[in-house]
Amino acid sequence: MSHSPSTIGAMKLRIHRGANEIGGSCVEVESAGERILIDAGMPLNFPLGASPKPFEVDSSTLCAIIISHAHLDHYGLLPWMPLVPVVMGGAGRRILQAAAPFMPQPPPNLSGPDLVNRQPIQIGPFSVTPFLVDHSAYDAYALLIEANGKRLFYSGDFRAHGRKHGLVDHLIASPPANIDALVLEGTTLGRMDSASIPSTEDDLDDELSRIFRTTGGLALIQASGQNIDRLVTIYRACLRTGRTMVVDLYTAMILEATGNPRIPQSDWNHMALCIPHRQRIQIKNNCWFEALRRHSSRRIYPKKHLAKNPGKYALIFRGLWMRDLERAECLDGACLVHSQWKGYLADPRFKDIDAWRQQRGMAFHQVHTSGHASPADLRRLATALSPKALIPIHSEFPERFDTIHSRVVRHADGEWWEV
Ligand SMILES: [Zn+2]
Repeated sequence: MSHSPSTIGAMKLRIHRGANEIGGSCVEVESAGERILIDAGMPLNFPLGASPKPFEVDSSTLCAIIISHAHLDHYGLLPWMPLVPVVMGGAGRRILQAAAPFMPQPPPNLSGPDLVNRQPIQIGPFSVTPFLVDHSAYDAYALLIEANGKRLFYSGDFRAHGRKHGLVDHLIASPPANIDALVLEGTTLGRMDSASIPSTEDDLDDELSRIFRTTGGLALIQASGQNIDRLVTIYRACLRTGRTMVVDLYTAMILEATGNPRIPQSDWNHMALCIPHRQRIQIKNNCWFEALRRHSSRRIYPKKHLAKNPGKYALIFRGLWMRDLERAECLDGACLVHSQWKGYLADPRFKDIDAWRQQRGMAFHQVHTSGHASPADLRRLATALSPKALIPIHSEFPERFDTIHSRVVRHADGEWWEV
């Protein structure tokens, strides 16, 4: 049963959403009458462009909203939340700013202080220490929240088999001590068996290189334009096989927003910008000419380049590309690589793409590794932090947390509890 928090308890918490689902995470933490929200996510199956119902939060005592990382199921409700400072990583913030004009929902309020890896920041009565982690979103953090002598650790989304696994290995090797409560994600529980070892991004690089070598025509890769690790993997496979990675303006701007000089950019060798028709209209309507100019040093065109030499290119593909590629007649010998969670294959939007692919006799490949920690890595982190209580979040199977830790306490959505 849910009841109002008293102001006497040292630290109280309620999960607004996420106790038994993946996506739409939101956690409220209260101490000394003040509160913060951790994440304000959109449910994963929520129709894009529709107006969701925001969570009910006492905005007069809300100090800030902390966004652990720039995935829609963690920040997507921001446009409907109270206008308070939004605390998140600087690169994650720039990525959301770059992506906002391309998105159907209203632009979110994104002003507030940055999280900096392992630097505590004071927000009202809360001391928040962010730990940069490995995840499919760039600039993702786990959070240590301290107030009134209580210590809460929120894992956010993380994995330990990506390009930045060293960050999580380091956290596990020297974890923060005396954790009262660990709020731990469990996406893979029930999706991956407990003994399975996930592929690394380097494994995917090998697989993609093999596909690029054996495909005579254009390689279309359906990957998130915000999964920077994956874009790096695709770029590396391009370098190994002499292909050029083709991105649209959206992806070019996301790569730029990382601000990281080691991440491939639109003006690098073996990179090219190509604009699908629908995006050309968007650019014109919104006067994004300066952004287009900035990314056009290696601009190519479907008919002039892709159709002449399709085997030389690997294109980051979305549904809006279908008509352009068809018109350019560049699909002979092409293949489609689905480089996202295989659950998305059931989405009606993918069904359309798949029917289109089959009609053209294109080969299909599934090349992906999860953005989330395997059950074994979840156990490693839980064991290292050794919390007094482990509270499941971001999982369809909260009962399976018992297989990774002995002190699991399940709290339902909306229920207040004391840390
Ligand atoms: Zn995520």
